[in-house]
Amino acid sequence: MKIAVVGTGYVGLVSGVCLAEKGHDVLCVDKDLAKVDSINAGISPIHEEGLDDLLKRNIGSRLKATSDLKIAVLDSDVSLIAVGTPFDGNEIDLRYIRQVSADIGDALKDKEGYHVVTVKSTVVPGTTDTVVLPILEEHSGKNAGTEFGVGMNPEFLREGAAIQDFMYPDRIVIGGIDERTHSVLSEVYAPFSGVDIIKSNSKTAEMVKYTSNSLLATLISFSNEIGNLCAALGDIDAIEVMHGVHMDKRLSPLLNSGERVVPAIISYLEAGCGFGGSCFPKDVKALISHGEQAGQSMELLRAVININRDQPRQVLDRLYKHFKNIQGIRIAVLGLAFKPDTDDMRESPAIPIVNELIAKNADIKAYDPVAEEEAKIIFSDDRIKYCSTLEETVENAEVVLILTRWSTFERLPETLRQMKLSPLVIDGRRMLPKDCVELYEGIGISL
Ligand code: NAD
Repeated sequence: MKIAVVGTGYVGLVSGVCLAEKGHDVLCVDKDLAKVDSINAGISPIHEEGLDDLLKRNIGSRLKATSDLKIAVLDSDVSLIAVGTPFDGNEIDLRYIRQVSADIGDALKDKEGYHVVTVKSTVVPGTTDTVVLPILEEHSGKNAGTEFGVGMNPEFLREGAAIQDFMYPDRIVIGGIDERTHSVLSEVYAPFSGVDIIKSNSKTAEMVKYTSNSLLATLISFSNEIGNLCAALGDIDAIEVMHGVHMDKRLSPLLNSGERVVPAIISYLEAGCGFGGSCFPKDVKALISHGEQAGQSMELLRAVININRDQPRQVLDRLYKHFKNIQGIRIAVLGLAFKPDTDDMRESPAIPIVNELIAKNADIKAYDPVAEEEAKIIFSDDRIKYCSTLEETVENAEVVLILTRWSTFERLPETLRQMKLSPLVIDGRRMLPKDCVELYEGIGISL
């Protein structure tokens, strides 16, 4: 099948590369010429495990990149829209979706065969049918349903595991205006045999995506509220509490053999310094705003966002417990990305924390295995000294802050022992045993 993927960010590029790997002919479209050139040169503009290999294997044969959207639409059976859908402070910002819909509509005017336009971006329920479809009809002068199809196919990949998630999906949700659209989109996913496919209208498909992200964000804020309460009550460690909760057989089923299944959902039921990334914060806020416009109070999800907004403070409170004034205090920041295995820093809890350290004139060293370049864009402050090893970062530090659960930071206790250092360690992710260093503070233990 010939597929055009419009927008080559995390979702578009991963989708394009994986669909080419599965045997489709894919044209990736982006208005950012630097990205297009980089992809055509076989160099991924983003960091994702396994992406470079798959890109190199397919580029120039089944995969090509272009900035010419019209050619891509004319030469394909399906276009997948994967542009950004940010939150503008009040509601979802659909400007990129509108622009691409208009451009695809213009191209459809000259298209002879049937084509299915599919929204892969996360958009609030109703967007595909009431925003994208009318723009396509207006710009193409054609009728949806008879002359082209319109569908919605949300993406569930997780940054850091994007290739694995796309190649081995847990579900494929296909929304569409009619049977023909469903059938064309089913062909796109035909090489992914054995996966559960859910077919629905586009509005339901859009809602599945928001509901999934909102549930996970709720679990994190719930765990953080419990963790903060444990800390406030004293003599309770949130880790032990959540461990007891995880043992519920409805969360970690007990097999007849006595063995426990430990599902990934458990990792969302742990206290930390908050969620970030390009999806949870903006998607939950967009759903709240959309729900309020529909007359719903959205109280639970508003609390989820408020708890998360305040959570980075837990790290700073532990710092101020030991240092009333942090001016000149040598602080090593371990981890900047919003989660491990990605260079994405969008809405990372590290941002408000490091900004406070900068504002209070702390002496900051920072280390993230892959997010340094992103960080340099966000913190345009040359007072941060970026390091490239754990050893270099912690040398001379009075305080070490762990902000991202990178597995390489598990070496911290051993590294400190070898270097004969005993700084205060504030574990914003509770990834180290609390007795592993001389001076330890962590989220979910009393202040
Ligand atoms: P991104 O910002 O990384 O990439 C978007 C790309 O679209 C950019 O490269 C941009 O140049 C391009 N673009 C914008 N307007 C364009 C136009 N008119 N023509 C061509 N290209 C254009 O975004 P992303 O993180 O890949 O997210 C895309 C969508 O997928 C969002 O709706 C997001 O919520 C959703 N999503 C993201 C993830 C994730 O983990 N990042 C997971 C699931 C769903």
